[in-house]
Amino acid sequence: MPALSLHDIQKTFPKNIQALRGVCLEVRDGELLVLAGPSGCGKTTTLRVIAGLETPDSGEVHIADRRVDGLPPRDRDVAMIFQNQVLFPHMSVLRNLLFPSRPRQTAGEDLTDKAQSFARELEIGHLLDRKPEELSGGERQRVALARLLTRGAGCNLLDEPLAHLDPLLRWQALSLIKSWQRRFQATMVYVTHDQREALTIADRIGVMRDGQLHQVDSPQKIFGSPRNRFVMEFLSPTQTAFIPGRLEQAAGSWIFHDASKLSWPLPPEWKTALERYGKSEIVLGLRPSAVRYSLSEKPPTSTDQEKQSTAIPARVVGHEFTGEQMYMQWEAISDSRRWTTFANGETPSIGSTGFLHIDLDEAIPFAPGPLGMNLLSVHAR
Ligand code: ADP
Ligand code: MG
Repeated sequence: MPALSLHDIQKTFPKNIQALRGVCLEVRDGELLVLAGPSGCGKTTTLRVIAGLETPDSGEVHIADRRVDGLPPRDRDVAMIFQNQVLFPHMSVLRNLLFPSRPRQTAGEDLTDKAQSFARELEIGHLLDRKPEELSGGERQRVALARLLTRGAGCNLLDEPLAHLDPLLRWQALSLIKSWQRRFQATMVYVTHDQREALTIADRIGVMRDGQLHQVDSPQKIFGSPRNRFVMEFLSPTQTAFIPGRLEQAAGSWIFHDASKLSWPLPPEWKTALERYGKSEIVLGLRPSAVRYSLSEKPPTSTDQEKQSTAIPARVVGHEFTGEQMYMQWEAISDSRRWTTFANGETPSIGSTGFLHIDLDEAIPFAPGPLGMNLLSVHAR
């Protein structure tokens, strides 16, 4: 039995804002599920519906074996960190940490000890006597987090809990949340709009857009087999190239023709999926791992005829260094289309010219449109 489930939740705000449009979700006992998606897609509303702070127009919310929509928040065994956390202004940080936990304290449990130790791990141990107004935004956020960890509940909801923290503290706090969640086998729904945070912490990720969940899967699965173009785009660490074109069948194999008249033979493993698709318009999604480059004035003199005919002449127009990874932005000389590759070895300077080569085994074919289905995905129909 899932620890938490949402069945077909609809929520409309005044002025006909459809915040949630048929959200269905199951969170397993002891699972850390990340809800990810762009701003305004309905993440906070989903958490508020689970917590009972928002009443859905229709649908059901179950926590453990109870139906809880209709119950007030305090009867749901839910702990939540809000996006802009409100602390009790007249209480010290320490009292703020302890307050929600007091009624639930078990015999022999030293709450102060527990709260202090979480506070130390989040580097707010020296602030326990202060009042919330004497704290920065990031410090308040850590107080809220320490409070949730001290209290814990059957179901823990965290709404962008690290948004105001600087990078070093963010990764420290992220690993504290994860180890706490593992240690207590706590069920958690963690909201973020940050794809890296999502991939790092999640047991499973649900990607939302416009009030709907588009896919719920493990980080590896959702990254490797995104159900549609939006999911691929959202979870990519950098810009993804999407190349529209046409399919053609020649001598039993499938060929992709792009708008600039280049053609690529498609991997034979795609055959069944392309036949099932039955249309000719497709879009290839290419992450940097699917695009390689060679630096030279002339097309590669490779004996490999195939590679030679599909080399795209391009110019380096930008660099993006993430600290671990150097990406290069390229512009195709014929049509100004933008491409991203990894830099291998020495990074060519801006203005350098070369040729791009596509590794189709790393590409993903989609139906056209911003929500085009992944044609290889088992879900595609
Ligand atoms: P997210 O947390 O993913 O950024 P929200 O759940 O806060 O998104 O919002 C989803 C949509 O509902 C947005 O269009 C937002 O403007 C709207 N919305 C949220 N809360 C309210 C409210 N109380 N009244 C009216 N519209 C709201
Ligand atoms: Mg939000």
